[in-house]
Amino acid sequence: MPVLSEYKKKRKFDKTPEPGPKKKHSRTRRMFVIQKHRASQLHYDFRLEAGGVLKSWAVPKGPSLDPTVKRLAMQVEDHPVDYAKFEGVIPEGEYGGGTVMVWDYGTYKPENTDDVEQAIKKGELKFSLNGKKLKGSWVLIRTRDRQWLLMKHRDYYTMKDDVTEIAPVSILTRRTLAEIAEDEGGNVKKAATGDPRRIPERTGVKRRKQGQKPKVWTT
Ligand code: MN
Repeated sequence: MPVLSEYKKKRKFDKTPEPGPKKKHSRTRRMFVIQKHRASQLHYDFRLEAGGVLKSWAVPKGPSLDPTVKRLAMQVEDHPVDYAKFEGVIPEGEYGGGTVMVWDYGTYKPENTDDVEQAIKKGELKFSLNGKKLKGSWVLIRTRDRQWLLMKHRDYYTMKDDVTEIAPVSILTRRTLAEIAEDEGGNVKKAATGDPRRIPERTGVKRRKQGQKPKVWTT
């Protein structure tokens, strides 16, 4: 299948604010991003840049820093590199309708290979993440078809606590899902029920709206 044809086929670009493919690659060509997405179910879209696209997995429970925990990761269609900065609302009734948050981003390094695409084809990729929330060594292993497992390797960054609870808000704008929905004209109630974890107390850190430049964007 031609590059990103599945991505394009699933979306109507006059209806959704999601980006069409433009950029060929990021500066580092090794970007990773995790988007917290309240569609029909809450999940975390885990994306690694390889071969000019974001290879993508939907992780229902999100990543865990506990090396004894295996998280189901369903491989989904490749996304354009431009998608990494998308935070906002996909209209109800459209594919993936709901609220999207950039939960973490940064760069990654494949371990034991230079050919990430080949490793993914073979069904096993070890890599280390250098994100704002997630760091250290990880592995993705295919169990069957589109079904994979995401696991943390034991290292300095291992932790028993649930990182999705400790760090629930956007890494770009510090907003919760409900706040993003509120700012971008989405369904606030749905976004809030999709994110039942405690909304963090206001710490005085100002949230920014979409379109205001984040202070840091390293990829
Ligand atoms: Mn999704």
